[in-house]
Amino acid sequence: MRLVYRISTALVALVLIAAPALAVEKVRWKMAMSWSSTLTPFATAPIELAKIIEEMSGGDFTIRVEGAEKHKAALGILDMTKGGQYEMGHSASYYWKGKDITTVFFCTVPFGMNADEQNAWFYKGGGMELMQKTYDKFDVLSFPGGNTGVQMGGWFQKEIKGLDDLKGLKMRIPGLAGEVFAKLGVNVTNIAPGELYTSLDRGTIDALEWVGPAMDIKMGFHKIAPFYYTGWHEPATELQFLINKKAYDKLPKEYQAMLVTAMKAVTADLFIDNFAGSADAWEQMKTEFPNIQVKTFPKEVMQAMKTASDELYDEYAAKDASFKEVLDSQRAYTKKARAWTNISEYNYIKTLEELAD
Ligand code: CA
Repeated sequence: MRLVYRISTALVALVLIAAPALAVEKVRWKMAMSWSSTLTPFATAPIELAKIIEEMSGGDFTIRVEGAEKHKAALGILDMTKGGQYEMGHSASYYWKGKDITTVFFCTVPFGMNADEQNAWFYKGGGMELMQKTYDKFDVLSFPGGNTGVQMGGWFQKEIKGLDDLKGLKMRIPGLAGEVFAKLGVNVTNIAPGELYTSLDRGTIDALEWVGPAMDIKMGFHKIAPFYYTGWHEPATELQFLINKKAYDKLPKEYQAMLVTAMKAVTADLFIDNFAGSADAWEQMKTEFPNIQVKTFPKEVMQAMKTASDELYDEYAAKDASFKEVLDSQRAYTKKARAWTNISEYNYIKTLEELAD
């Protein structure tokens, strides 16, 4: 009996010692980004994610991150993740609106929530569940991938004084906002990030929107276009991590937990990086290029864009039940969250502005 006890104790000890070793599994993944490897802070999030995962796993789980300069398919990230050429992707959900219009809600929509409100919706308001329901059909998992906050309305070669100035204007603007502008007579196109500067410089397009000062300054648009419009179209652009579902399911539980935790960490970092970077870049831009004119679209134009947006939402909701489900969820959540924003963040800034007058 004593012998049996001793053997079993020894076995338990052996198993305990061996257990960590048994759990270790070498996993080598690849991730494709919609951006070039040098396009910070967008590219910073996936690159940091890979570093964190490697450190957390002691080098056993590694992710090789490839920028658009390598795979040459900036707008093909969903297909490549779904197909398994890459286990992960870093992109933006509204790039997939041609595959499923409901995907736009998981990035940002015209006149939608700001970043605080949208984060609350994702994590506490049912947004994550609705996003996964939308992406199930692609056999991928989708996670928030970093928020830019309110984006600028874009760089324009000529001033927009009224609705007539939009007619025939050639502009790069993705997502539902592009459809809103198209309703107002704009000739809309989506161009991969790497080709934007040349397109604006050569006059292939008259205007474009990209992100905000932190990222726009690297693209150099402020050197070739004088008007910088304030935003309406992307009030909380959330980037996206995509994961091939089969690959994720095969991961040991520990690696799944590392991945989910690391994604959330770098997503928070991107928001901070982009905010800080925009404050720095805007200070630099307006000092070095004092002729840049910051404009807000005239009220006539803003009103027309709001009306066109509401019409678009209603048109899509009428023919697509899943679009309607997410639209209803966002509208209801916005109503609740905005009531809080109004008496907190908004009121704080507004009160200080009034003091300064
Ligand atoms: Ca944008």
